Amino acid sequence: MRWSKSCIPTFKEDPSEAEIPSHKLMLRSGLIRKLTSGVYTFLPMGYRTVRKIEKIVREEMNAIGCQEVLMPILHPTEIYEESGRLETFGPELFKLKDSRDRTFALGPTHEEVITMIARDDMRSYRSLPQCLYQILSKFRDEIRPRYGVIRAREFIMKDAYSFHVDDESLDETYRKMEGAYRRIIERCGLEYCIVEADSGYIGGEESHEFMVLAGNGESTILSSTCGYAVNQEQAVAKEDPDRRVGENSGDPYIELSTPGMATIDEVSGFLKVEPYALVKTLLYRTGEKTAALLIPGDREINDIKLVNASGDPDIRFLTPDEIVKATGAPVGFSGPVGLPEEIEIIADPLIEAYESMIVGANKKDAHLKGVVQGRDFRIDRYEDLVWAKEGDLCPKCGEPLGMSRGVEVGHIFKLGDKYSASMDATFIDEKGEMHPFIMGCYGFGISRMAAAAIEQHHDDDGIVWPASITPMDLLILPVNVNNEEVLETAFRLERELEERGIDVLVDDRDQSPGVKFKDADLTGIPLRVTIGRKLKEGKVELFHRATREIEEIPVEKVLDVILEKIER
Ligand code: ATP
Ligand code: MG
Repeated sequence: MRWSKSCIPTFKEDPSEAEIPSHKLMLRSGLIRKLTSGVYTFLPMGYRTVRKIEKIVREEMNAIGCQEVLMPILHPTEIYEESGRLETFGPELFKLKDSRDRTFALGPTHEEVITMIARDDMRSYRSLPQCLYQILSKFRDEIRPRYGVIRAREFIMKDAYSFHVDDESLDETYRKMEGAYRRIIERCGLEYCIVEADSGYIGGEESHEFMVLAGNGESTILSSTCGYAVNQEQAVAKEDPDRRVGENSGDPYIELSTPGMATIDEVSGFLKVEPYALVKTLLYRTGEKTAALLIPGDREINDIKLVNASGDPDIRFLTPDEIVKATGAPVGFSGPVGLPEEIEIIADPLIEAYESMIVGANKKDAHLKGVVQGRDFRIDRYEDLVWAKEGDLCPKCGEPLGMSRGVEVGHIFKLGDKYSASMDATFIDEKGEMHPFIMGCYGFGISRMAAAAIEQHHDDDGIVWPASITPMDLLILPVNVNNEEVLETAFRLERELEERGIDVLVDDRDQSPGVKFKDADLTGIPLRVTIGRKLKEGKVELFHRATREIEEIPVEKVLDVILEKIER
């Protein structure tokens, strides 16, 4: 392939719209172009990498016995009414109307479609288990599309769905899928970890995410030396179980004057206590009800947990006026003591460690000290509500958790009968009885993977492609294309390598060496043969992009040396 006649539009400056290296580099090296927010074209070089990732994914799916299918993108919205997901998807579902005014959605994922197939066409236990997969564009109207193809509104996903007679059979496929995902990411040459995850709106019982480690990843991972790792979204905050906060001297609580001090920092600074000696009381409205949430002063509410605990995606913080109405005091002075009966008091389990606490007094400019739960106020129930953080203890080994970041490339779920029960998809067992299928689903972000690879493998000069997913195996760089011998050597080598199935790009542009070398670094092809002045002495240079190592090689040996370096 010749650069001069290819659509590989590179540019020097960082695009202002891009925040992280992979997004900048994908634009600069001509892998992708934006059509509109969250919608991208993969140009030839970008699409080559996508195809290589797809090939690896297909091979690993086929190797564990999955069957490839192709489902429609256009879905009648009735199927989401049937599964109950029309609401849970909410605004992320792209909707459109046909000419007869019927509503359709662009598929964000395919649980409903595949469950209908199983319902009609996998009736007997004898045909189970089965696992079907596809590679297809998905559509989600993400609230904040960003980072290029990492969080896009149209993106390529591999999604697989498995159907089983029981949980054991699901467990077996789930484990095989985990193995296949590990091999996919390893074959792509990336470092990763597997974390316990929140199931989000896909739902179900258990799920794991596959994170490609990268400093700019959107996901935060808490992990321990014992091998345990969890998505921070999902992690339960755990302190030393022997930790006791405050002390209960048996004395009644006292009121303290805290004029104008409405934040934890202000109050703890003023009282010269640690922020966690205070307990925050946060007032939320769900439907017609108000709930007071109690959490340690040094912790924050995790909205995902809050929505899960309340079952209300519209749950919201009370407005300042509503707070005054509910507690009698302005924002910053709420507390659990003396709240009206109808306000439910929900506490994070960390509150159990408090023998006494400092709380707002439900009175302007006042806090209460020495407040004892049970004695001075009631707790209606405990719910896991707060963000876990670095230094919290591992639930498995008890050691402090470390923090790292990653890009989620895969997510596997045990769905159980979530879809089969609501959509009445059953199989007939050996006794002739009907049961809902036990299901699993397994997503892998193909287009996101291309960006994740760059996020993990780049340097100041550009991309450093892992050999297995590079758009091209080798770049031949004739320095001066006006020198006939140089150009002929380049084209001969190109032909010989292409005949052997190697993907070769020749930079035959009549550009300055400076431009060509910069572009070569930027586009990150792992191996480069530079054909320049040394050709007179019968030598060319072999350059390794990852290590920047240069070898001088006699021109007659270069074919063999390259073939040896590029395993096929
Ligand atoms: P996220 O938490 O990042 O929004 P998700 O839980 O919505 O992900 P799944 O529904 O599990 O994602 O989708 C499976 C895989 O598809 C993800 O692991 C990810 O690799 C990819 N993916 C999901 N959303 C996007 C997106 N907006 N753009 C690109 N890839 C995506
Ligand atoms: Mg999502």
